[in-house]
Amino acid sequence: MSNNKIYVTRSSMPDMSEYVEEIASIFQSHLLTNMGPKHDELASNLTDYLEVEHISLFSNGHMALELCLQALSLQGEVITTPFTFASTTHAIVRSGLTPVFCDIDPDTYTIDVNKIEALITDKTCAIVPVHVYGNLCDTEAIDKIAKKYNLKVIYDAAHAFGVKRNGVGAGSFGDASMFSFHATKVFNTVEGGAVCYSNPAIGDKLHCLRNFGILDQETVSDVGANAKMNEFQAAMGLCNLRHIEEEIAKRKAVCDRYRKHLENKEGIKLCTIPSDVTHNYAYFPVVFDETKLGKTRNDIFTSLAKENIFARKYFYPLVQDYDCYKDRYSSDSTPTAKYIANRVLTLPLYADLPLEEVDRICRIILQA
Ligand SMILES: *Cc1c(COP(=O)(O)O)cnc(C)c1O
Repeated sequence: MSNNKIYVTRSSMPDMSEYVEEIASIFQSHLLTNMGPKHDELASNLTDYLEVEHISLFSNGHMALELCLQALSLQGEVITTPFTFASTTHAIVRSGLTPVFCDIDPDTYTIDVNKIEALITDKTCAIVPVHVYGNLCDTEAIDKIAKKYNLKVIYDAAHAFGVKRNGVGAGSFGDASMFSFHATKVFNTVEGGAVCYSNPAIGDKLHCLRNFGILDQETVSDVGANAKMNEFQAAMGLCNLRHIEEEIAKRKAVCDRYRKHLENKEGIKLCTIPSDVTHNYAYFPVVFDETKLGKTRNDIFTSLAKENIFARKYFYPLVQDYDCYKDRYSSDSTPTAKYIANRVLTLPLYADLPLEEVDRICRIILQA
């Protein structure tokens, strides 16, 4: 039994000296927040890296999504999926909108585009799909439906930093996309987030909403919030962005090692990356079929935990089963999401996870 604990993720950080050098100018300028030079430099670098037209930075991904829904002045019902992090649904509800849950595709775990139209009513105003685990949604099909019914599309791209399809960045689809730069994500600013969009009018509204709705010194036009990214967050982002290629390459090596051990094993299902997609290797989800394996996801979770390896049942429970939603919703309405949520485990994955540990994790899974 190994004593060192392995968690599902471990935040990537630059060398301390690099960060200290990056923040030195803040100690000269005394500009700590409110869209200072670090903020502007990071916004510019991210526009290039993500290959998007426009970006607004935020204190975190959740506020980015919430204020984006508010910037689009939406009202009524929003079609989304329950196989996601709490933030997606909470942002919808906290914006005064009603989530309507669509089931997911059994292979990509993103919204099942064949089930969207049946959920559209005269109250539907938008679709909020999630690029789960960095797997891109069927953006073309979603686009067609949105055009046909005149709906807005806002992607939760929290998992999709750096992902591209045919060279097109994940932040270029729909009306807007939200990225999270939380400590646990592929790219972090400690806490942080962004909205990418092509219509500059959305940006004007977002800039206003993230700063209390203050338009200028004597005009407060909107009931905004405080969701600005500060200079120390931006400095962390500037450092981490310099190393992003190495970060993703190391993650790929870990994923390749998992794949080598677990691919084509009876009862074990892995995600496949389409050949036209450049992935970010954000997560390594595995779905265990107890009828073929003779043991459940929970058995495997426990076997790993006994060896101080802490995988995550990510995403379990489904959003409809949360205490705060269970009186209004049932996860029985999305059977594929329910099936996956009961069988999925995301395995430990971070840039510096030693490959020998991946070997050991796979041995435990295959023996369990
Ligand atoms: C991380 C995450 C968020 C929220 O981002 P924060 O930066 O933590 O606020 C939203 N949606 C999904 C799917 C996430 O994984």
